[in-house]
Amino acid sequence: MQAARTLSQVKRQYGAVDTRDFRPSAAKRGYGSKWQKARAEYLRANSLCVECGEPATVVDHIVPHKGDMKKFWDRSNWQSLCDYDHNVKTVKHDKGFGNE
Ligand SMILES: [Zn+2]
Repeated sequence: MQAARTLSQVKRQYGAVDTRDFRPSAAKRGYGSKWQKARAEYLRANSLCVECGEPATVVDHIVPHKGDMKKFWDRSNWQSLCDYDHNVKTVKHDKGFGNE
């Protein structure tokens, strides 16, 4: 029996396409497999970025959940974003918008 040794071998073994799902930090932040499944379903149903209409890759929380599980799982608080617009939002947020 030969175990997979490297991340790329693991990815190949599981036929991974989306490398983002393999970020180890995701599970640590509470984004476990339940979230991975829910976000994949959401992106299938809402496949375009709400900002620019490009294919979305990120499910964003409109109101930051800050660990509040009710906000986290409230789908009316979700929106589809592309990487670009998600980054834009993150930068804006970090630079002072919604700075408490
Ligand atoms: Zn976009």
